Order: sequence, then structure tokens, then C-alpha cells
Amino acid sequence: MSSACMARAAPSNCEPRATKPLMTQAKPRPPCPICGKPNVKAFRPFCSAKCADVDLGKWFSNAYVVPGEPVSTSDLDADDS
Ligand SMILES: [Zn+2]
Repeated sequence: MSSACMARAAPSNCEPRATKPLMTQAKPRPPCPICGKPNVKAFRPFCSAKCADVDLGKWFSNAYVVPGEPVSTSDLDADDS
């Protein structure tokens, strides 16, 4: 018997190298666009509900500040006749 591996010899030499899952971050998550912290799955793409709220507030403030004058449909309808 020359094949030591076939027999129950040194397992560390015979076994294929086990691939360990990385203990640290497997994938770098894109950072929170508000504060730059790693995002949280529940609040993607933000890190927390707070940052999501901040972003929402930004959108609202942008929505209020619209370029040009606001168009009212009722005014157009009155002008037609
Ligand atoms: Zn954040």
C-alpha cells in the first residue's frame, strides 16, 4: 500500500482546501448618500430611517422650489372661453 491518501492518512494533505467564508464584509455596500456610512438592508440605500427621512425632506424641498411659475389648470380653462 503506497497510496497513503486512499487510506486514512494525513487528512490535511489529502483533503481539498476548504474555502472559508469571509468573516469580514463579503461585499462592500454602497455608502449612505446622506452621511456616507455603510447602508443598512432595511433602509437601503440609506444607513437608517433618519437618513432616509433627510433625503425625503430634500426631495420635498426641491419639489416646492420649482423653477418658473406654477401652472394652474383651472386658470387655463377659464382663459379658453
Ligand atoms: Zn446615513
